Amino acid sequence: MSRVYNFSAGPAVLPEEVLKEVAAEMMDYNGTGMSVMEMSHRSAAFQQIIDDAEQDLRDLMNIPDNYKVLFLQGGASQQFAMIPMNLMKNKSADYIVTGQWAKKAYQEAQKYGKANKIASSEDKTFSYIPDCSDLPVSPDADYVYICENNTIYGTKFKELPNTKGKLLVSDVSSCFLSEPVDVSKYGIIYGGVQKNIGPAGMVIVIIREDLITEDVLPGTPTMLTYKTHADAGSLYNTPNAYCIYVCGKVFKWLKAMGGLEEMKRRNEEKAKILYDFLDQSRLFKGTVVAKDRSLMNVPFVTGDKEMDAKFVKEAAAAGLVNLKGHRSVGGMRASIYNAMPKAGVEALVAFMKKFEEENA
Ligand SMILES: *Cc1c(COP(=O)(O)O)cnc(C)c1O
Repeated sequence: MSRVYNFSAGPAVLPEEVLKEVAAEMMDYNGTGMSVMEMSHRSAAFQQIIDDAEQDLRDLMNIPDNYKVLFLQGGASQQFAMIPMNLMKNKSADYIVTGQWAKKAYQEAQKYGKANKIASSEDKTFSYIPDCSDLPVSPDADYVYICENNTIYGTKFKELPNTKGKLLVSDVSSCFLSEPVDVSKYGIIYGGVQKNIGPAGMVIVIIREDLITEDVLPGTPTMLTYKTHADAGSLYNTPNAYCIYVCGKVFKWLKAMGGLEEMKRRNEEKAKILYDFLDQSRLFKGTVVAKDRSLMNVPFVTGDKEMDAKFVKEAAAAGLVNLKGHRSVGGMRASIYNAMPKAGVEALVAFMKKFEEENA
C-alpha cells in the first residue's frame, strides 16, 4: 500500500486512523455482523451512531442547547436555496460576495426574493476580504450571508461582519472544525462535510431553534424545510448513514487530538510553514492579501502558466497530488485541512525548494 499526500480541495484527505478503523469494521460493525452500509437507519445500532456523532460535534463546537444539528443531503449547494426558502420572511437578504461559492448563493437567493450584494471583492479576483465593519445592511434584511473561508481563492474572514443586529448565516464548508467558533454569533452555520470532515454527500446545518418554523416560502418542498428534519432528528427519510458514521469517527479523532484549540494550533503551524516559504521564494508567490489568508486553502503561482503546469506534474510524480489551482485563479492550490499531517506540508515545501533551485 502506498499513500500520497493529497492536497485536494474536496473531497479531501481523511485521517488515516479513521480510514483504518472503518476498514476494520467493514464486515462486522460492533458485533452486528454487518457493515454500517447495510444497516437500517431505524436500527438501535444506527441510532447510537447518529446520537454519538451529534453529541461529539456538540462537545467539539460547544454548541448551545438552543441550536439544532441537522445532517442533510444535497451538499452545501442545496443550502443556497434552502436558506432563503426558510428564512426570507421579508423577501430580502444581504450577501457579502467574496468568491464563487458566495456568488452562487447570492444568485440562487435572487430566485426567492431581493438579494442585495452589500460588499464584494470581485474587483481584485476575490484576493481579499472587504472591510465589513460598517456595511449598508438593509433595514428589512432577513439575514446577512457570508462564505467564511473561500475555498477557491484562499481567503478567510478573520473577524465576522458587523451585521447591525441582523442574523448571520455562514457557509463554513472549508473551515469546519479547523478552529474554535462561537456558535451563538450565528443564526445558521453550515458546511458540506467533504472538505474538512468526511466523505462527500452530506451537509451539516447548525441552526438556532427559533428559525425552525412552518412559516416558509409558499411552495417550499417538505424535504427543503428545516422543520421536517429537525422534528425527525435528521431521520425523516434515509440519511447518508455511512457518511454520518465516518464523520462521527472523525469527531472522535478530533476529540482525541485535543479538540478545536489544538487543531487551530496545528493548522496555524502547518500554514506558517507554507506561507513563510512563499514569502521569501524567488519563484512562487501567494495570491492573497496576507492578513486575509486562509489556514486551509493556500493558492500560489509562479506567474508562468507552463512553469505552473510543470510544477503540478512533477509534484504529482513525487507523491504530492491534486495541487492544480482552480481554473479561475490558475496556478496551484494546496489544501491543508485538519487531516493533512505537518509532514505533508514539510514534504511540499521541500519539493518546492528543490523545484525552485532547478528552475528559477
Ligand atoms: C465545496 C464548497 C461548496 C459546495 O459544496 P457541495 O457539497 O459540492 O455542494 C460550497 N461552499 C464552499 C465554501 C465550498 O468549499
